[in-house]
Amino acid sequence: MEISGKREFDLLKKIGFVRMAGTEQEKQAAEILMEEVRSIGLEPVCEEFEIEDADITAAQLEILRPYSKTYTVTAYKLSENTPAEGLTAPFYYAENMTDADMANAEGKIILVNGFLSLDLYRKIVKSKAAAFITMSGNMLETEENSDLFTRTLRSTMREFGNMPAANIRMTDAFDIVKNGATMAKLTVVNTPKKLTSRNVIATVKGTEKPDEVITFGAHFDSVEFSTGVYDNGAGSVINMEIMRHFVNNPPKRTVRFCWFGSEEIGLEGSKAFVRDHEEELKKDVYMINVDVAGSVIGYDIARVVATAAATSHADAFMKRKGYAVDVKQDIYSSDSIPFADKGVPAINFIRFGHQIGGAFIHCRNDVIDYLSPESLERTTKFILDYSDEVINSAVMPIDRTVPPEMVEKVDKYLNKKALEEARKDKK
Ligand SMILES: [Zn+2]
Repeated sequence: MEISGKREFDLLKKIGFVRMAGTEQEKQAAEILMEEVRSIGLEPVCEEFEIEDADITAAQLEILRPYSKTYTVTAYKLSENTPAEGLTAPFYYAENMTDADMANAEGKIILVNGFLSLDLYRKIVKSKAAAFITMSGNMLETEENSDLFTRTLRSTMREFGNMPAANIRMTDAFDIVKNGATMAKLTVVNTPKKLTSRNVIATVKGTEKPDEVITFGAHFDSVEFSTGVYDNGAGSVINMEIMRHFVNNPPKRTVRFCWFGSEEIGLEGSKAFVRDHEEELKKDVYMINVDVAGSVIGYDIARVVATAAATSHADAFMKRKGYAVDVKQDIYSSDSIPFADKGVPAINFIRFGHQIGGAFIHCRNDVIDYLSPESLERTTKFILDYSDEVINSAVMPIDRTVPPEMVEKVDKYLNKKALEEARKDKK
């Protein structure tokens, strides 16, 4: 049966609504995917898992000196609460938290640049700041054409400590720094709660080597404010089309399809999957992950979390077939990470774009207008062609091993060393 970009695009439109981790909408998207799996002739399995979340009841920043103004902020979910009436403290713009900034932050409400990496967070904790504020967005945004995101202080971060935290628009941060704020009052109140998220799984049994399993993965959740069609409704529908092919053309090896929930909050779906199927994973020989695709303007890449030989094999395949795919050995921030962490080698297919070329992620601009059936179909065809080569090989062409140079990158990505240090410090 032919691959149909149009059919993929139609399914993508059906799931093209905001579907945040653990929400009713994420569940609804899972049901649409399960219905599609059934229509192709397989019985899907839905596996639930628990995630952390919080209800925010207050979030506000007031500058008290040398001028007086109230700014909209969002609270970091699961950060510590301020008193209900707010926390008043000196205000300090700590930029990138150099040693000089760290020495000057104690007891203050600090503002830091940009993205909260674990490294930056550790410095903030160490500085004994009273609370911190991150900024997001850019100076060209207006309140009408952009959204202020609610961040979460993930469990990995909380291992190092906790304090009240908020996120502010870049334009407001600019205003505050330009006007030389020195005293502020921050109010952050939130209540932790648990939500249920889910993975959808369907399996096509191998005809000759049923005990060798290849998993296709794609996350189907989105972030706040985003219809998540590029990231990653596209990968979800690509895998559905590939599943349709293997149902109609039974593979030699077993092929498992996983649509993961809660990827956007820290790969929670794939982490739950490898945790709940640890024993079964011994049969897993390879993982094929698709995360972001379908953009009209863009370029296709493959990142191989396997041996250099497996990378060369994939690269040679693409070149021989004349597919325009840049293949390199590297990790990629997506659901292949937990598999690689359990020793299952993987390949990630990604159609990158340009932030101003319509390939928007994690914002309200990730919409179907910038994607096309033709783009989806082209990417699906080379992923299927490559996968078919691997899945139906007489002998598995990829060693079932994650080499040390990739293990090192996976461990770093998962902050293993830093977490070990944090746990040692607690003892
Ligand atoms: Zn994604």
